[in-house]
Amino acid sequence: MSTMPVSPAPAAPVGAPTPLVVSAAKAKLWLGGTVLFGLLAYYFVGVDQGAFSVFGGDMHLHEFVHDARHLLGFPCH
Ligand SMILES: [Zn+2]
Repeated sequence: MSTMPVSPAPAAPVGAPTPLVVSAAKAKLWLGGTVLFGLLAYYFVGVDQGAFSVFGGDMHLHEFVHDARHLLGFPCH
């Protein structure tokens, strides 16, 4: 039985994942923008229609998001 020096197999390079570094001020800005965008999307898809429309009696926005309104189960007509 021969004895050959056994060297450990080279380990695959495992790099530590780079942490995402975001300052608190930037995180607050992104969170605020995301919440604002979400609320606007919610309003225009789910609420804005008819008499309460931001754009008066114009139904273009309502028709634009009409399928999304039905898909998400908001009451429509
Ligand atoms: Zn409808």
